[in-house]
Amino acid sequence: MVQQANAPKRKKQQPKQKHIPQRTCIVCRQVRPKRELIRVVRTPAGHVELDPTGKKSGRGAYLCARRSCWEPALRKGKLEREFELTLLPEDRAPLDAYYESLPIEPAPPAPGAGAAKRGKKVAAPKQTAGKQAEER
Ligand SMILES: [Zn+2]
Repeated sequence: MVQQANAPKRKKQQPKQKHIPQRTCIVCRQVRPKRELIRVVRTPAGHVELDPTGKKSGRGAYLCARRSCWEPALRKGKLEREFELTLLPEDRAPLDAYYESLPIEPAPPAPGAGAAKRGKKVAAPKQTAGKQAEER
């Protein structure tokens, strides 16, 4: 076999898909299809509103529909920083309500959870009677 040094590099051919608009969550920075994210908009009047339809005018920000993304967005000012404003209490209320409506995520398994098993050696199965296969 001769190695072909000049073999053409194979381009990764991606099947042409319908263009799906992608957006980035402002908290976790994950890029997801737009429709999986929740749009929050800063209206021209300076209010911040949920925009479930994605059609409100204003500056939009996208968040995953996950508590782990909304929590820092609302409680740690990520959203305010994104919009460069201070959330008004009346604007915050519906966002808080939305956050509260999100399902509580199952806690990820604690990193040390597997450690308990360590040290406890699993008794190696004793090989009993290798030649009892033919019982009949
Ligand atoms: Zn996110």
